[in-house]
Amino acid sequence: MSVPLLHLRNVSRRYPMRRGLLGRTVDVRAVDGVSLTVERGRTLGLVGESGSGKSTTGRLALGLEAPDAGDVLFQGAPLPPPDSREWRRLRSRMQMIYQDPLGALDRRLPIMEQTREPFDVHGLGEPKDRDAMALALLQSVGLRADQGRRYPHELSGGQRQRAVVARALATKPDLLVCDEPVSALDVSIQAQLINLFVDLQHEFDLSLLFISHDLKVIRQVSHRVAVMYLGRIVEEGEADLLLQAPAHPYTQALVSAAPMPGRRSRPRIVLEGDPPNPAARPSGCAFHPRCPAARARCRVESPALLPLPDGRRAACHVAHDEPRLLKAAG
Ligand code: SF4
Repeated sequence: MSVPLLHLRNVSRRYPMRRGLLGRTVDVRAVDGVSLTVERGRTLGLVGESGSGKSTTGRLALGLEAPDAGDVLFQGAPLPPPDSREWRRLRSRMQMIYQDPLGALDRRLPIMEQTREPFDVHGLGEPKDRDAMALALLQSVGLRADQGRRYPHELSGGQRQRAVVARALATKPDLLVCDEPVSALDVSIQAQLINLFVDLQHEFDLSLLFISHDLKVIRQVSHRVAVMYLGRIVEEGEADLLLQAPAHPYTQALVSAAPMPGRRSRPRIVLEGDPPNPAARPSGCAFHPRCPAARARCRVESPALLPLPDGRRAACHVAHDEPRLLKAAG
């Protein structure tokens, strides 16, 4: 079996959080025992509500933060400590795309210069060739030479994000971690950027960890999908299978809110209760206060993420013990 490009093995990350102004400090489990794999040339979509731990997982995957427990393996080897020389060397093969391209770009430099910068920093190519290399990158993401001469504030949001992607590709990375990269864009521009990611994946043989709260976006880019709730993966599997027949009640609710074009829409599942608060994790299955299928057992016993007969993994007592009940509801 080939070694996956990226493997998170039982990774956890906690942060201290003070409850109220004078309250005591508690440890919040932002990421709690997460195991994920990104294969070469494939996209793993990571979806969940705000506060579910997706962005922390992305930072752990890149080694921007070290986990409190568990391992992050890149091509089978543990990531070096953050900011070590070995880690900085490896970082050129792993790039991050954030939601806000303006924050990721230098407002004082034209796009072309910023795209050339990684070539200068890493000594890639001959100095006399680097402008042409930068221009070729800009063209590969759909930007023209005249747009390369502009400053970030002179471009639209979509063009800025294209410029960020071009610069990220300069070091020929193997992995892109994209954290809500299209969330700030208009829907029509979102579609163009999503197509760009799909095209670039083929052209540059990229692996993507694509993070979004929006299942419609995740559906368009992902080969596999992992659903996160309150710091844990609750369902993970091949995108087609998981999105057409979700097994976990939380995934079912997400899918019902984002019906697939051309598919018979099912009644929307409206989740009761408050959105998740990582500082007040419910007992047992953390989803039980909002789950329409909850049983008495769910309040006391936390379900493990276990394989189902069709190969996906789900963390739900009912999905494993009474799957017909959930199929009828989903
Ligand atoms: Fe719902 Fe129980 Fe399954 Fe949790 S374990 S998702 S509460 S049915």
